[in-house]
Amino acid sequence: MAADPTPIEVPVEVPVEVPSEPPEEMPIELPGEAPMEIPFEAPMEVPFEVPPEGSDPLEQAAATEAQAQVPGLGEVVIGSLAAEAQTQGSGPAAASPLPGVEVPPAPVAEPRPSAEPEAVETPEAPTPATATEPSFPAEPEPVPESVPEAIPEAAAEPPPHPAPPSWPHRPSLFIVHITPEMAPVAKVGGLADVVFGLSRELAIRGNHVEIILPKYDNLRYDHIFELHEIYRDLWVPWYEGAIHCTVYFGFVHDRKCFFIEPHSQDNFFNRGAVYGFKDDVMRFAFFSRAAAEFLWKAGKHPDIIHCHDWQTALIPVLLFEMFKGLGMTHPRVCLTIHNFAHQGLTGTDLLRATGLHRPEYFFDPTRLRDNRYVNALNLLKGGIVYSNFVTTVSPRYAFETKDQGQGFGLEPTLHTHHMKYGGVVNGIDYDVWNPEIDPLIPVRYGVDRIDGKYDNKRALRHRLMLADNQKPIVAFIGRLDPQKGLDLLRHAIFYSLERGAQVVLLGSSPDPRINEDFWGLKRMLNDSPDCHLEIGFDEELSHLIYAGADIMLVPSRFEPCGLTQLISLRYGTIPVVRSVGGLADTVFDKDYSHHPLHERNGYVFQDYDHPGLESALGRAIACYFNHPDHFRELMKNAMRTDYSWNIPGQDYLNIYDYIRDK
Ligand code: ADP
Repeated sequence: MAADPTPIEVPVEVPVEVPSEPPEEMPIELPGEAPMEIPFEAPMEVPFEVPPEGSDPLEQAAATEAQAQVPGLGEVVIGSLAAEAQTQGSGPAAASPLPGVEVPPAPVAEPRPSAEPEAVETPEAPTPATATEPSFPAEPEPVPESVPEAIPEAAAEPPPHPAPPSWPHRPSLFIVHITPEMAPVAKVGGLADVVFGLSRELAIRGNHVEIILPKYDNLRYDHIFELHEIYRDLWVPWYEGAIHCTVYFGFVHDRKCFFIEPHSQDNFFNRGAVYGFKDDVMRFAFFSRAAAEFLWKAGKHPDIIHCHDWQTALIPVLLFEMFKGLGMTHPRVCLTIHNFAHQGLTGTDLLRATGLHRPEYFFDPTRLRDNRYVNALNLLKGGIVYSNFVTTVSPRYAFETKDQGQGFGLEPTLHTHHMKYGGVVNGIDYDVWNPEIDPLIPVRYGVDRIDGKYDNKRALRHRLMLADNQKPIVAFIGRLDPQKGLDLLRHAIFYSLERGAQVVLLGSSPDPRINEDFWGLKRMLNDSPDCHLEIGFDEELSHLIYAGADIMLVPSRFEPCGLTQLISLRYGTIPVVRSVGGLADTVFDKDYSHHPLHERNGYVFQDYDHPGLESALGRAIACYFNHPDHFRELMKNAMRTDYSWNIPGQDYLNIYDYIRDK
């Protein structure tokens, strides 16, 4: 996710105006007639039932040994989940890219000559973990528990991981991602992880995938291999002149990446940071023009150009309004919006700079004119209007942005273009986020060797100089942005300490006032042996926290998808989340969800207030103390859920096929 120099003020209530008629001009051929329905299931209230006295079998179970012998919550069902995942990825029946959109099955054909299937890498064999006793208290501290524990079902042990799916034969595609971020070389937020993981998934399915990025001076060059000049004299028209660029090629962990380096006194990408500058809109408008120019001049005609967020949303506009006339008619564009809070608002100058000109044409409300500020152009809106398909990063967020006032003014545009709009939940890259092979944690572990997690917990405590005791560790990892629920986070720190937990926070903000606020908090809690706040960005430390913490807090105001809860699940760290966006789509409350027991994987609250937060966090901490074996089963459920790119990768391919066939 990216910062935007023109933060958009959110009105208290955003009126959702649904235009009575679609705009007269639809500049791009729109996908067909399939109506799209974004499913929304209202959170279900499960009646509170008090179990008969002494009915909780786990209360009678010994905290540890019994654990190893009694199969727990929903193990069989996870096996069937795996089977379901396999079915979804294995045949034309899974071809609908999104609920409600019917997509014809992909024809069986030989790969096109342009496609060079990527070699499939086999992950390094997991290092055996040292099995140790879990560090749950033998006699837990008496913490009253507010809700009854769910009764687990005995079940047979399933295979720990879903079997690899067999994918249908389909024509290979040439796909180019154009993006401002990609992990680990240029990472600010989840967008970076998405490009890294999705591009890999598309490549291992036999597609030819390339990625175009700006050549920032602060790229993690230690992750780029064989970097070399590949296109020396790329002249990119800019205002009345042109800027000379060099294009480099290099591999980032097998991904084929092109880096565009402009040589001009603007120093667009030599500023030590990815975002945070007054001219960010111009910087990325330039990058968009340069990327399109590069594709054109290098004679690349991808089947699919996949753009990300407002920073590259100008590309479909340029392709249709400029490059199509030059003969570049082949590519179809998919735009993924990772966060509607940042849209890239700017003035007419951008049209002159990029060579689009014709302000009267582009300021039309059916094109780029912002829906709220009539004198502003809105790049993200342009991306929605001109792309062949628009996705956001979870079905719930797609619904919230179109129908629940979360679109930051773009609701009418989403309604107009609803036929080509939907949500796909992000995956995480299991080559990177996987406790079985993670080189950044001291002891590797998996669902069948879960005790290794407690060694990581000890290592985390040692690293952060926390007391070694029987307490659970409640963690937060994320940007310190109001979106992430900072006031609730602050409350949660004190609440957790009061309830006998330890707290670890890793986060930073580009806003110095927010950072200073958390530095103040850090100083206040400095003497506590149970609390460590790390203000900064530290990828390596984040791995240790995911592995060592027991509970991960994600109390967001809004959350398009959220990767922290997905990564936490993979590491058996129980998420406590607010029920919004992708959090609602991926975390199911242990006590109140309408999902089957084996799918429940965390704690969820609805209301953005202190009692709401406490209702979930309190239950999580209480379960840890009072029902360690239940907590452990919850960890296993979490670790078994498949949030890899397997399913979303197939969803994106279905979308690509759909827009190619139109
Ligand atoms: P967003 O995209 O809104 O920032 P996500 O939850 O989608 O949030 O993705 C956040 C990603 O960035 C995760 O991979 C998380 O681990 C990582 N991250 C966020 N803040 C930090 C930090 N301070 N140090 C290390 N990693 C961080």
